[in-house]
Amino acid sequence: MHPSHLAFSHLKRLVSIEQVLTARGVIASLTRRGQRLIGPCPVHHGDHPQAFVVDLAKDLWYCFTRCRGGGDVVELVRRMDHCPYPEVARYLAALARVSPTPARAKARRPNRAYQPYTKTLRLDPHAPLLAQKGIPAQTARHFQAGAYQGPGFLEGCVAIRLHDPDGRPIGYAGRRLDPQQIRHYGKWKFPPGLPKREILYGFHRITSPLQQGLAVVECPWGVMRLAQIGIPAVALLGIHLSRTQVQLLRRTPRIVLMLDGERRSIRQPPDSIP
Ligand SMILES: [Zn+2]
Repeated sequence: MHPSHLAFSHLKRLVSIEQVLTARGVIASLTRRGQRLIGPCPVHHGDHPQAFVVDLAKDLWYCFTRCRGGGDVVELVRRMDHCPYPEVARYLAALARVSPTPARAKARRPNRAYQPYTKTLRLDPHAPLLAQKGIPAQTARHFQAGAYQGPGFLEGCVAIRLHDPDGRPIGYAGRRLDPQQIRHYGKWKFPPGLPKREILYGFHRITSPLQQGLAVVECPWGVMRLAQIGIPAVALLGIHLSRTQVQLLRRTPRIVLMLDGERRSIRQPPDSIP
């Protein structure tokens, strides 16, 4: 047998399809039905809600729409990343080191609540992307942002620490750097199950009285840049303003939206923005 086949059969025992989907942040878009996961296909990024099926017992996946095919965890990673087998092996080996195989009982628990990740990671504040965004190392350190060097969920990303509105750390978001990955999955990745709609990035850092107003910007970099010139700002981690976020914003009478370079001042937050 070819050595790589041996390596793959070993890796397949260590890493399940479910672990890969969790690491990629797509598990939340799938519905668990018995021993199956069903949802839109993360391989071709379709939106048919039943296109993609994972048989958890057999650890096999299949896409009934555009992919018209499926396979094991190796085939899943190969097709999601459009990469050759040695790279798939490296990815699975890295994932095997950082994420233990979920116990069956745990796997069956539906919609478990988000478990905050409170460990502090070592991040490099001198990441070129940060410099590009106009964020010096000192600011990056203050915001706990920087390049993550290890394997796993944040591999190859610039990470930023996330907090709940009271300032408790709840995990990290990753800004992807690989152009191909960005094309396929977007710039940002968030821990699966993260309650994005209950967070305003940067909210807990606002030390000035809220009466003085607040800028709402599109991304965390904007919050960091404005902090450097003493302007309190928060960012949405998505495109919708949720009820919880509106509640947080209601505590300030003056909000300046700085989205897409447009600037407008409003007295009351709208129920949602597109
Ligand atoms: Zn597909």
